[in-house]
Parts: sequence; structure tokens; C-alpha cells
Amino acid sequence: TDGRGIFKVYSPEMGNKMRRYHYLLEEMRLAIACENFHLSFQPIVHVENCTIDYFEALTRWDHPVEGAIAPAEFIPIAEESNLILELGDWILLESCRQMSAWYNAGMKKVKISVNISGIQLKHRAVYDWVMNILAKTGLPASALMLEITESTLITASKHIIQQLEKLRASGVTIAIDDFGTGFSSLSTLADLPIDVIKLDRLFIAQANSNPKYNEILHSISELGHKLGLKIVAEGVEEFAQFELVKSMGIRSVQGYLVSHPESSVNVGHKVLQDNIN
Ligand code: C2E
Ligand code: CA
Ligand code: CA
Ligand code: CA
Repeated sequence: TDGRGIFKVYSPEMGNKMRRYHYLLEEMRLAIACENFHLSFQPIVHVENCTIDYFEALTRWDHPVEGAIAPAEFIPIAEESNLILELGDWILLESCRQMSAWYNAGMKKVKISVNISGIQLKHRAVYDWVMNILAKTGLPASALMLEITESTLITASKHIIQQLEKLRASGVTIAIDDFGTGFSSLSTLADLPIDVIKLDRLFIAQANSNPKYNEILHSISELGHKLGLKIVAEGVEEFAQFELVKSMGIRSVQGYLVSHPESSVNVGHKVLQDNIN
């Protein structure tokens, strides 16, 4: 700029951020039209026998020039711009389409778990939206789980909560995602329309070294089970973490220790193997 200090200090970095934001925004519009996205699937397994309980669908952006762009970067931009509505339509349709194929190939006990943004809950008539996609793809409601973050759920309107209740009544499973990092108290668990608690990865990372976290983990596990909720520990990277959550009575784990997210091709091979064995 013209040498007035303050602009010199702040403007280059902010300018870069803004440029990157607008660049990615324009690119994302194109990418949605061209379907430059694909889904990756991370298994969530049972602690006793490592059978798969769920696959979490995680969205990947394959940019022709930049290569892979991380969801941590593009999801917030998609949410701010409402592009998550269009992208999210594709994500749920593609997730259910893929799971329906696996289901028909014999994988009947696994649920596909799909991340749903608060923006989608606000702007889509959620019950009809989900039920239509299930009907279109032929996937049973019982094979679908929706992941909604703790912060979204605790601020959701009465109307949204009712829609989620209706989905549950139809057999769809609802999970509270990233639980333990928000500020809701444990007692709110009883009032939310949920079946599954996904304990945040940061939480698991602390539990072995910090006795207080260990205590909280214990309380969540105990109360969750009393309320009839299933609990998934996210981000389990080390065997010690696996052993710890197992000793707390938590039955399902997700994390690099078990498996990284995988392509649909790799998952498909497993489905076939399971059927042969
Ligand atoms: P999330 O929903 O909490 O998803 C779990 C993230 O943790 C994924 O990152 C996954 O690859 C990563 N992860 C799994 N196991 C481990 C582990 O052991 N250690 C570590 N360090 N990380 C692990 P990813 O795929 O990069 O996604 C990041 C976030 O972006 C997701 O967090 C979610 O908030 C958002 N996201 C991804 N796909 C979608 C989507 O389709 N829709 C929406 N609304 N958000 C999405
Ligand atoms: Ca998630
Ligand atoms: Ca999570
Ligand atoms: Ca997260």
C-alpha cells in the first residue's frame, strides 16, 4: 500500500486469506458442477472382534491443479457460502448410493455414517430430504447414521429437533459428533434426539496422560450407557488408548490404529471377502 504502517502490517496476510477464500469458493462451484469430489470411508469397529459397525463417509476434493484440498479448509468455506447445501446433497446421495450397493452385496450389519452440517439442518426440510434420498437409493433407514456436532445440536431449534426425532422414529440413527469439546453439560444428553455419542479425538488424546480427563471419560461412558446410548471413541491412534477406552466399557473405536479412511474400491474388496469367508 501507500506506506501507512497499519495497512502494511495487516493487509498482505489478510489479502492472501481473502484471495484464497474467493479462489476456493469459485473453484468449489466448478467442482460441484464437475463432481470433482469423492468419498473416503473410515471403519468404526467393535472392540471385541474388530467387526465393522459403521463406515464414516468423509468427503475428498480432488482439485485438478492443487491436488487434494483438506475438508478442514473447504468445509468451513462451503458452510459460510451455503455451498454446503448443494455439496451436502451430493454427499448424502453418494453415501447412500454406495452403501446401498454394499448392502445389496451382503453387507447388512454395517451403517453408513454421514456428517451433516448445521446449515443443512437449517435450510433443508431435513425429514423429507433424508427420506427422499433413502427412497431414491433403496437404502433401508436402519443402515444410515447422521453425525451432527455437539455445538450444532445444542443450539438447534425446536423444529429441527422434531425433524430429527421423526427420522429416528423411521429408523435412522443419530450421533452427536465431536462430543466432549463443546460446553454442554452431561445432563443435556438425556434431552437430545440421539442414539450414539462420538467422543472427540482431542478428548481421547488427553485421557491417558490426564487423570481428570480419565474421570470425565468414565462418567460419560457410565451415563451414556445408562441412557441406552452407544459410544464411539474417535481418533484412537495408540494401542494404550484402545485398551483404555475398552476398559471403560466403550464398545466401538475409530482411528488410525484400526484404519485410515479408505477408497470405496478397497472397501468393496472387503465386502467381497466377507461374503466368501
Ligand atoms: P470429523 O467429522 O470429526 O471426522 C473425523 C476426522 O478425523 C477425519 O478427518 C478423519 O480422517 C480424522 N481421523 C480419523 N482417525 C484419526 C486418528 O486416529 N487421528 C487423527 N489425527 N485423525 C483421525 P477429515 O476427513 O480430514 O475431516 C475433517 C473434518 O471435516 C471432519 O471431522 C468433519 O468435521 C469435516 N468433514 C469431512 N467430510 C465431511 C462431510 O462430508 N460433510 C461435512 N459436513 N463435514 C465433513
Ligand atoms: Ca464426523
Ligand atoms: Ca468427529
Ligand atoms: Ca472433528
